[in-house]
Amino acid sequence: MNWQDKAHLRIPGPTPIPLRIQQAMSKPMIGHRGQAASRLLQECATSLRALFGTTHTPLILTGSGTSALEAAVTNAVQPGDEAIVVVTGAFGDRFAKIVERYGIALHRLDVPWGTSCSPEQLATFVQNHPRAKAVFLTYCETSTAVLNPIAELAKAVHDHSDALVIVDGVSCLGAVPCHMDDWQVDIMVTGSQKVLMLPPGLAMVAVSERAWKRIEQQTQPRFYLDLTAYKRSMEQHSAPYTPAVSLLYGLKEALLMLEEEGWENVFARHQRLMRMTRAGLRALGLPLLTSDDDASPTVTAIDGRQTAWDTESLRKHMSEMNVTIAGGQQHLKGQIARIGHMGYCDELDVLTVLGVLEMACFKMGVPVELGTGVKAAQEVILHV
Ligand SMILES: *Cc1c(COP(=O)(O)O)cnc(C)c1O
Repeated sequence: MNWQDKAHLRIPGPTPIPLRIQQAMSKPMIGHRGQAASRLLQECATSLRALFGTTHTPLILTGSGTSALEAAVTNAVQPGDEAIVVVTGAFGDRFAKIVERYGIALHRLDVPWGTSCSPEQLATFVQNHPRAKAVFLTYCETSTAVLNPIAELAKAVHDHSDALVIVDGVSCLGAVPCHMDDWQVDIMVTGSQKVLMLPPGLAMVAVSERAWKRIEQQTQPRFYLDLTAYKRSMEQHSAPYTPAVSLLYGLKEALLMLEEEGWENVFARHQRLMRMTRAGLRALGLPLLTSDDDASPTVTAIDGRQTAWDTESLRKHMSEMNVTIAGGQQHLKGQIARIGHMGYCDELDVLTVLGVLEMACFKMGVPVELGTGVKAAQEVILHV
């Protein structure tokens, strides 16, 4: 039996949507220039400040996460500029591709996939490229389940250069602390379909005072993703183009749910889900792609290059039992399996994933002892 409403979607986005949010999104449509829409936008933007750790009002775009990555590039740098992109996986690589496509001279710092970028490494690279106008970083590199140390990396940049620090926080903002003002991050972006428990379709961008100065001087053409238009509209509690009203209703509800839980508790929950997942996989003898120090609280990767069996086959067996996990991207395609544990995910969900993973291993003839992964995860919950 594969009931669709009992499907266990455990990929690193899109993530499952709570009933409360589904219901909030089914409200009747309203005029996007009316007072109700204006209030809705203002409420969302105000609540988003805590998510980003900023006193500035974040902007809300209609588009997938990549639209915000592109907005960050086209607003912060222009053709002829130099930029540094730190590539720890497929999403850093996406930033690099956008930078190149717009004719910006790219200095690419490649870090082996599965590890984070160290501040020392970045400091040296920044010193070697003193003309770079911006440094692009990825907070959680979803493709490898790595969390990069953004506070330290931002400091490493500022210690040696005037470059803007621009961060992709799409797959972790909300699940991990973010203090962009304190860390002096200039542009931070996120999307709706990961930790925020919403469908895909919204991108959020927060911008520092320093970055606005740069953005307002840019002369290269841009239209839909011109952030100055969103800023001017947001100052009037409005959006330059029709906002995704239903998603905004959902966003308001999502932020309310997270506030009710309490941000510290939300962070602690994601830490717990990560520790359960890692403890469970380790107890089963499955190799992890990332070290404990580099691990992201939102996603965990099994390194299939170190197993005698195929992670794609594992995914197939799990999906037959109604649990969906993700595979790898680019050169890790078919080589790793990734378990998402972000957003609308709790301890029981992780027990389910591990229980089903054990059964999938059993069916594949992988020598695991049933129950050992689940037991290790239970012990994390029970502190034993
Ligand atoms: C999901 C994700 C994105 C956005 O991808 P879209 O498909 O455009 O929503 C960007 N960066 C990271 C790190 C992601 O995990």
